[in-house]
Amino acid sequence: MSALEQAAVAQLVKPPIPPELADLPQWKGLVVPFVQVTLRDGSPDFRAVHESKRRRAIEQRLCSVCGRPLGYRIVFLASSEQQVAERVYHEPALHPVCAEYSVAACAMIAGCLAI
Ligand SMILES: [Zn+2]
Repeated sequence: MSALEQAAVAQLVKPPIPPELADLPQWKGLVVPFVQVTLRDGSPDFRAVHESKRRRAIEQRLCSVCGRPLGYRIVFLASSEQQVAERVYHEPALHPVCAEYSVAACAMIAGCLAI
């Protein structure tokens, strides 16, 4: 991550971390999602999803943020109305609390969310 990108992340408003997520890895006040790519220096690349972790989350029905097993109530984040209509999602599901945190913490998700 470039110095400019690091500065942009540092300036983001960071929502409070819910108690359910407090034990997860964090970086500069943000929870590091389970499916995130980790760079060689140990920092997360919030722009990139780790493909094998994404696949594992889908196949084993794990939350893409906390990596824990999903329960009955789950949330899918969609980037288009078409995805919602067709019920075809390319990213793993999330717990409701993890989805709420992600929408508040991630500008990329908040900016392209369909529902
Ligand atoms: Zn979760």
